[in-house]
Amino acid sequence: YVSGKKKATEVAHQVWKQVVQRGDTVVDATCGNGFDTLAMLKLVADDSGKGRVYGMDIQKDALDKTSTLLEESHCLNEKQYLKLFHICHSKMDEVVPLDASVRLVAFNLGYLPGGDKEIVTRSETTLLALEAAKRIIIPGGLISIVVYVGHPGGWDELEAIQAFTSTMTVDNWICCKLQMLNRPCAPIPIFLFRR
Ligand code: SAM
Repeated sequence: YVSGKKKATEVAHQVWKQVVQRGDTVVDATCGNGFDTLAMLKLVADDSGKGRVYGMDIQKDALDKTSTLLEESHCLNEKQYLKLFHICHSKMDEVVPLDASVRLVAFNLGYLPGGDKEIVTRSETTLLALEAAKRIIIPGGLISIVVYVGHPGGWDELEAIQAFTSTMTVDNWICCKLQMLNRPCAPIPIFLFRR
């Protein structure tokens, strides 16, 4: 048994691999327990010290869990590649340097697994964060979003994101959604490719 959640994030990680190269700068907009941050570190860290992951979460607890996961995964020496921020992701362009050439911004929405289920991503700030991601992503880059519809507010957030992406210009963006037709409540990966 592989949970739908795991499948959705694995699909996202596979797509990242097609886009991200060693030495790139990427953003984890929702660090949570750190699994996505770890996957990103493994993609970008190169021997010469290039490659950066800017990670953020509104919960300090999540950032602590991310740091712990990296330690347990023996990625301590990769910490030079990582910068963590205790902020709302709508402010990502205030902490990522203007000249950072960001190749990937990833969102894994919803609540912190094992944490307070009342603290969830919300449409209003998610859309502001998507605007910020659009500002910093370089041509050839990717905004990756895994949307959870199984909790209160999840469908509304999905609809808000779909409405937002449907206005993105075809000349600059290819916007795709992967929906499991035989499992309507499975998490939904959305990929916004910057042309
Ligand atoms: N990527 C994580 C992982 O690999 O374990 C899972 C992320 S979890 C599903 C969602 C996270 O989003 C939670 O840790 C939550 O605190 C965070 N979050 C909620 N609203 C946020 C916001 N406005 N800005 C940044 N993080 C937020």
